[in-house]
Amino acid sequence: MIRTRFAPSPTGLLHVGNLRTALFNAMLARRGAGWFLLRFDDTDDARSEERFVEAIRADLRWVGLDWDAEARQSARLSDYETAAERLRAAGRLYPCWDTPEELELARRARRAAGRPPVYDRRALSLTAADRARLEAEGRRPHWRFRLDPEPMAWVDGVLGPQRIDPASVSDPVLIREDGRFLYTLCSVVDDADFAITDVVRGADHVTNTAVQLQIFAALDAAPPRFAHHSLLTGPGGAALSKREGSLALADLRAEGIEPLALVALLARIGSSRDVAPVASLAEAAEDFDLGAFGAAPVAFDLDQLRRLSAQVVRATPFGAAADRLAALGIAGPKAAAFWDAARPNLDRLTDAADWWRIAEDGASAIAPEDAAFVATALGLLPPKPWDAATWKAWTDAVKAATGRKGAALHRPLRRALTGRDSGPDMAAFMPLLERPDARNG
Ligand code: GLU
Repeated sequence: MIRTRFAPSPTGLLHVGNLRTALFNAMLARRGAGWFLLRFDDTDDARSEERFVEAIRADLRWVGLDWDAEARQSARLSDYETAAERLRAAGRLYPCWDTPEELELARRARRAAGRPPVYDRRALSLTAADRARLEAEGRRPHWRFRLDPEPMAWVDGVLGPQRIDPASVSDPVLIREDGRFLYTLCSVVDDADFAITDVVRGADHVTNTAVQLQIFAALDAAPPRFAHHSLLTGPGGAALSKREGSLALADLRAEGIEPLALVALLARIGSSRDVAPVASLAEAAEDFDLGAFGAAPVAFDLDQLRRLSAQVVRATPFGAAADRLAALGIAGPKAAAFWDAARPNLDRLTDAADWWRIAEDGASAIAPEDAAFVATALGLLPPKPWDAATWKAWTDAVKAATGRKGAALHRPLRRALTGRDSGPDMAAFMPLLERPDARNG
């Protein structure tokens, strides 16, 4: 059985790049009738905030994503301590007292000597007396994982065969001097304990994967399969996460973007397959194919999302929109007919509220040069009830009486009935109008 997880750090709002990672993992699990975990990586208590935990849950639910279980790293500290003890006992976790200044100096010296600026393991040559002295000074160590010299290799689900030489990577710090466990260790312990089979994450984690594979081995745990998707970029090629606050899901939701448009777009951009609207997240999951994605960065285009969103609105049948329409006050016996008349012209579902108000109350503002024409036209308005043929019959009669045609004929009449110069097809919309004679012009 496939078991995946999405592991956000609750230090900010989710943006489209995070959602893409979440969707990949969720869809992988859903497609394989698997299991999907939402894990909050919140060991950094200085930066993690409860309001972000709640916002992340709300954003995921908004796109229709659900999860089988939830975990929080802050509640699992004793598990990390147990793992750290095992690594210490195996000689793989060693204490270091280097200060940031000392480390920076050493890095510079190595660079100047043409060597990779990795940690030189000076702490490993401290004698027992050195350590005792440092401890007596009241200094607390941070702890590094001693990498094995064997190359770290795996077959990546997106990038293909990978091989990283440990000599190019510093022994990672797993525990800081304040005792806080770092993500690199916690994630391995969690993935092992929750029996995660597949991890999909951004290409910025490739080096972490190399290191974490060694930690899995040191803990005698079976590693998951890893896949690293390329990162989304903004229009100028800038990393999305760097563009402050922009493309947060909360902003897209406030703008009226359809969640299913976002799902459809993120499930396909960067892959060899065309973006196509989907009726549900389950449908997107059914034919999700990780193997179709490439290694090149992917440009995220907000206008493409907006166009897709309008397409989704227009394709949404009344049954699927009814709850959201009711929340806008659009309900009752003619709501379905109203929706079908209005939706072909809408960009956002919430814009239907305006049209509903017009259907209920009528509205118009007639230009002075059209006043006489409109008065004549209203005199020719057929009695109710109106049907789909009324608009044509009426405009034909007005044309015969006034000699106006084309836009000069249709636009003032549309305006007289709806208060707008454009909008839904009038033949479909006219039967829905309650008080077409209510005018304010
Ligand atoms: N909390 C990590 C992040 O947001 C998780 C990375 C992972 O999936 O392992 O980058």
